[in-house]
Amino acid sequence: MNHKRDYYEVLGVGREASDTEIKSAYRRLAMQHHPDRNPDNQEEAGEKFKEITEAYSILADTQKRAAYDRYGHAGLSGSGSWSPDFSSTIFSDFEDIFGDLFGFGEVFGRGGRQRTRSAGGVDLRYDLAITLEEAAKGLETKIKIPRWEPCPICEGTGAKKGSKAITCPTCNGRGQLRQQQGFFTVMRTCPQCQGMGQVIKDLCATCRGEGRVNTERVLGLKIPPGVDDGTRLRVAGEGGVATRGSAPGDLYVILKIREHPCFERRGNDLYCTIPVSIAQASLGAEIQVPTLDGEERLHISEGAQSGQMFRLRGMGMPVLEGRGRGDLYVAIVVVIPTHLAREQKRWLEALAPHVRVENKPLSRQGGEKARDIFG
Ligand SMILES: [Zn+2]
Ligand SMILES: [Zn+2]
Repeated sequence: MNHKRDYYEVLGVGREASDTEIKSAYRRLAMQHHPDRNPDNQEEAGEKFKEITEAYSILADTQKRAAYDRYGHAGLSGSGSWSPDFSSTIFSDFEDIFGDLFGFGEVFGRGGRQRTRSAGGVDLRYDLAITLEEAAKGLETKIKIPRWEPCPICEGTGAKKGSKAITCPTCNGRGQLRQQQGFFTVMRTCPQCQGMGQVIKDLCATCRGEGRVNTERVLGLKIPPGVDDGTRLRVAGEGGVATRGSAPGDLYVILKIREHPCFERRGNDLYCTIPVSIAQASLGAEIQVPTLDGEERLHISEGAQSGQMFRLRGMGMPVLEGRGRGDLYVAIVVVIPTHLAREQKRWLEALAPHVRVENKPLSRQGGEKARDIFG
């Protein structure tokens, strides 16, 4: 086997390319190299087409792309022996990109199966931004989804009340016409019935025979406590219908957690930084710190150092679909006064001889430790 080419190189995009750039690069190349479009050179076009499709299937997937960026081909499961898995979302993605242009299933040997469009529904994606507090407590909300639903007048049949669809005479109800083109068997959508296998004589007036109508549906959505940025919630059966008579697809809600003004989240733990005065750090103090459940008292021990971390157990994020909560880590920074009044300066000068520090370099080991704390 040849040396595997870099996926970015295959698609001709830079490593910083956005999802949109990757998608449009793939679309352009796939159009160019699809075996259907290269009747004189199908075998080579087919290999090329598989290569760009493999590259796209990795780079279009955030997790796979991250693994690939970090470890190259070795970072992908099966260490490079990629096989197209079109049961996953990637296939509906292709159909998104190309519509009915090509019979993808056939190119990848998925023969014998009904076309995805007529068999299944359309999966929908909805991006929802919520606050960290909402992610911690869970949330019930309503979202508005534009989607195709079965036509309520003809109940999705597309036929006028009292009339019926008949079996398509061109394809005998199969919906597709098979054509052998060298290496590939190409399935073409039947032009008379558009792949439905049936033709309607008297169309339903509401949906013009499509069997579906485009509507905006308001759905209730329950978000469990503990979700994170990128958490994907699947709402089964709340996607769109693809054609008349098809079952609806699923709805995927992708969560984005808005940045919090003071908490940073790492897994289920939260981090925040609180300034303290020289006196508080030297003498110790009781201070109030914010948590997701309101203010809490925190004891700063005597002689606390700038950057020192204090832990509030169980004050972090709840574990998604589990028990318990992460912790809240509070780092203190000692604020050095900048504009001292004359009197304040005198007090510090009086104090100076009593708090002498040897001005010698810290051992590098100590330095490492300090960095760890700030980590
Ligand atoms: Zn209708
Ligand atoms: Zn037909």
